[in-house]
Amino acid sequence: CGIVGYIGKREAYPIIINGLKRLEYRGYDSAGIALFDGSEIQLSKTKGKVSDLEERIGREITTHGKLGIGHTRWATHGVPNDINSHPHYSNSGDLVIIHNGIIENYASIKKELENRGYTFKSDTDTEVLVNLIEEVKKKEKVKLGKAVQIALNQVVGAYAIALFDRKKPDEIVVAKLGSPLAIGIGEDEFFVASDASPFIEFTNNAIYLEDEEMAIIRLGREVRVRKIKDDKLV
Ligand code: GLU
Repeated sequence: CGIVGYIGKREAYPIIINGLKRLEYRGYDSAGIALFDGSEIQLSKTKGKVSDLEERIGREITTHGKLGIGHTRWATHGVPNDINSHPHYSNSGDLVIIHNGIIENYASIKKELENRGYTFKSDTDTEVLVNLIEEVKKKEKVKLGKAVQIALNQVVGAYAIALFDRKKPDEIVVAKLGSPLAIGIGEDEFFVASDASPFIEFTNNAIYLEDEEMAIIRLGREVRVRKIKDDKLV
């Protein structure tokens, strides 16, 4: 399983698809991608190989956009199928997430969210997490990074996550506990991946997140790395 993300000045698609191929050695059963060109999120995902995803992308979406995230899934919650593949949207359609790992207490969080009117398309723990983040963001009236931090403090499990908000197209938020996560820092561009192989040809300036760390990656700013358990953020 693996994650790749890009935000910057280049087209994200080739970087992400090639990155996913380099992460294939980690093993997976499904693959998916979300690209954002500033107006529409283009999302395509499928059970099967990265080559199956490429074929599908050719039929389904346009590959334009300088922000994107891509995923290879090793199913833990929900069978390997197209719907359970990542990325996953939040209910509003604003947030899009990819996740490697397991959210162990997802069932109780899911029940609570369902009581508040949230609905779920997939059987994954990941779709629960992205909606928890959305609920926290709305209820606490906080920015995305803070919402991720608060949500992760309610979660038991393991994760490398990357997500963005279509209303904030200059930012990717990432977090790590258990699964690996590297951030590549270029000139006016950032890369995210399970290891450095997807971005090694673009930059050798990398940050490897420690467990229980998160980072807010925003164009035009330094990467801000924070402890998930710290009270303060931003
Ligand atoms: N637990 C998540 C799922 O089953 C992520 C699995 C993974 O690490 O790829 O969808």
